Amino acid sequence: TVARLRPFASTIFAEMTELAVRHGAVNLGQGFPDSDGPKSMLEVAERAIAEGFNQYPPGRGVPVLRQAIARDRAARYGTSYDPDREILVTVGATEAISAAVLGLVEPGEEVVLIEPYYDSYAAAVALAGATRRTARLVPDGDGFALDLDSLRAAITPKTRLLLLNSPHNPTGTVLGRADLLAIAELAREHDLIVVTDEVYEHLTFDGHEHISISTLPGMFERTVVISSAAKTFSVTGWKIGWACAPAPLLDGVLAAKQFLTFVGGGPFQPAVAHALDNEMPWVATLRDTLSDKRIRLSKALQEAEFGVKRSDGTYFVCADITPLTAADAMTFCRELPERLGVAAVPVSVFADDKESWNRLVRFTFCKKEETIAEGVRRLTPN
Ligand code: PMP
Ligand code: GLN
Repeated sequence: TVARLRPFASTIFAEMTELAVRHGAVNLGQGFPDSDGPKSMLEVAERAIAEGFNQYPPGRGVPVLRQAIARDRAARYGTSYDPDREILVTVGATEAISAAVLGLVEPGEEVVLIEPYYDSYAAAVALAGATRRTARLVPDGDGFALDLDSLRAAITPKTRLLLLNSPHNPTGTVLGRADLLAIAELAREHDLIVVTDEVYEHLTFDGHEHISISTLPGMFERTVVISSAAKTFSVTGWKIGWACAPAPLLDGVLAAKQFLTFVGGGPFQPAVAHALDNEMPWVATLRDTLSDKRIRLSKALQEAEFGVKRSDGTYFVCADITPLTAADAMTFCRELPERLGVAAVPVSVFADDKESWNRLVRFTFCKKEETIAEGVRRLTPN
């Protein structure tokens, strides 16, 4: 393995899921649903396969999907992307993120991440031979807030790109308009590209609303929006994601993407197009049931004496283990599957400053009622 990838030898999701399987634990670690997405969408995919839609799709993605993505962004955010030049279908958001960094950042330039950050971001920056710097979330009431001073401090003359994620994995933080306006101002002042990972754009709770930074003044032209069908339609295995950006930025993403995978997921693409056009009511129901599960899991964690944090969005709730143990989060999570029959993920793996995040454990609530109930039962002291 080359030196720049050595720190990324294995992902935490593989490690914790393997532990869960080995100990028959309820897997509240890796964020993937254990039930299927909308039926009509699954049927379109089946039909596409049966009808021989099984060869390479066009490089930018099938037109019906790019058109559906354009309609969706216009309807929900008022932003207008040309489906022929400004929308690219990718192999999940993961590929879009890597392709954006590879295609838009020179080796030696800097990328600012918000810590804690989704694990693939740091690896993408390393792949590109770029350097990561971090701004940080800090505790704020029962949740977290962006420390804007740390963001200002992270920006240098070498900074090329700011990689944002809201709703935020792992903390469940949803950035509000004031924060996004402040970030946008910095991006304009320092002439940065912003890549915004919005894979949880639909999954916000308690009236919190996702705002895309691409909609703020002066931001459309410098922003690459990334999203995915994985979380919106409960198909994490399909790996259909997308990037939307003005052509000069999208060209960079495409240049990298075409040599990473060329194309992917042919028969799933028309199915996701169908879902974007027809299954938003299904997504609204998903959001409501997820919110209920979030509340149930949070309550159970509270009763088990975790210090539960507020989750305003995503699949995840974080909990402080300080009241339970002196062990750090990684040790705690390595023991949890055997000890209580539940798997979770330590937030420290998403941070460079492990010290500040070694008390926090992430649980997912994107599982069936009965899975959540069994997890709750195992966590509840008797
Ligand atoms: N970004 C974030 C914040 C995620 O949590 C995930 C994983 N669910 C991804 C990107 C990857 O998305 P995909 O499965 O579409 O590659
Ligand atoms: N995004 C999911 C999570 O955060 C898992 C993705 C993965 O396994 N790489 O849990």
